Amino acid sequence: MKKIYLKILIIFLTIAVLFNSLPIAYAASSEKNEITKKLQETKDDLKEVNDQKKESQNKVNELSNKIDSYETQINSLKSEIDTKTKEVEEMQKKLDTLEAEREKNQNLLDERLVTLYESGEVSYMDVLLSSADITQFISNYYMIETLTAADKELIQKLEDEKNEIAETQSKLNASLEEIENKKAELESVQSELNKSKDAEQSKVDELTEQSHDLESDVAAYEKKMKELDAKEKAQEAALKNKIEQAEANYSTSGTSSKGFIRPVNSGRITATMYYSSGSYHGAVDFGVSVGTPVYAAADGVVVTATWGGSDSYGYYIKIKHYNGLYTLYAHASSLAVSVGQVVKQGQLIMYSGNTGNSTGPHLHFEVRTSPGGYSNRVNPLNYLP
Ligand SMILES: [Zn+2]
Repeated sequence: MKKIYLKILIIFLTIAVLFNSLPIAYAASSEKNEITKKLQETKDDLKEVNDQKKESQNKVNELSNKIDSYETQINSLKSEIDTKTKEVEEMQKKLDTLEAEREKNQNLLDERLVTLYESGEVSYMDVLLSSADITQFISNYYMIETLTAADKELIQKLEDEKNEIAETQSKLNASLEEIENKKAELESVQSELNKSKDAEQSKVDELTEQSHDLESDVAAYEKKMKELDAKEKAQEAALKNKIEQAEANYSTSGTSSKGFIRPVNSGRITATMYYSSGSYHGAVDFGVSVGTPVYAAADGVVVTATWGGSDSYGYYIKIKHYNGLYTLYAHASSLAVSVGQVVKQGQLIMYSGNTGNSTGPHLHFEVRTSPGGYSNRVNPLNYLP
């Protein structure tokens, strides 16, 4: 029964510690990862928007060229219409002149006939019969015949000429109408093209706006990244400073740093520098259940307290000791200290677990001669009691 209560207590403590200490430990790096991801996504979006914009702009240019080509055709038809309209007008003038002439000649003829008619009583015959002698008769007869015939011929000639011109004019009008229809057709197509162009242009405008927005987002993310980089550097500098200070305090305090203590009070060693299979391990594993308290092997400063990845250490801690060595504790269920914290030998630093690349609950314990690199690992058994 006691064991069950202990388990419940351990689970409770694990949850409490997990929620209190973990997010702080790796918040900065996680924020950086998030910003990096957002920055990349925004850049991808920007590229896509710019590609779309380019495509739409090309369409606009294509439509503009088409519209211009229609404009040229329409203008050519317009000048053709102008020329033909002038021709029609010229013809109308000619027709008017001819009509005036015809009317004039008709009037002359009418007048002449009326004069003849009036002067010789009622009939044309009377004029002839009123001739004094045969010579006058012949003279009168021929005069009337010649005059009226010439008049009639002239009028007929004018009439013919008028008809000819009117026919040409009518043909010209027909052709003019045809050209005007063609022009209207082209104008209608051009108007449709203009509508398409306007629609495409508003797409371009919209995409331009989007592009600008994304550009300012990119700039903002880049600025944020710079800030985070600066913050990280400042944190690193602060940590370095803390370590130096702790080291200075330590050397004056005179506390012994010789030898490490066992990081867990229970659990047998399940693996050493080499696994039973013969493959390299580089650490000592203690078989302890999830939630077992883990203690600092010696005095030092916490230099890493973070999530090391699901394919690696899981939650882990690295401590820099004053003898120049480093110890590393991996696969924790939760962490109890944070980066920069000065720890005493035997101080609780975390609770063991089964996180990361772990096949069962255990504590993975390393001793290193420098903070980074697997090749700097030495056999922990040489340091443990
Ligand atoms: Zn291990």
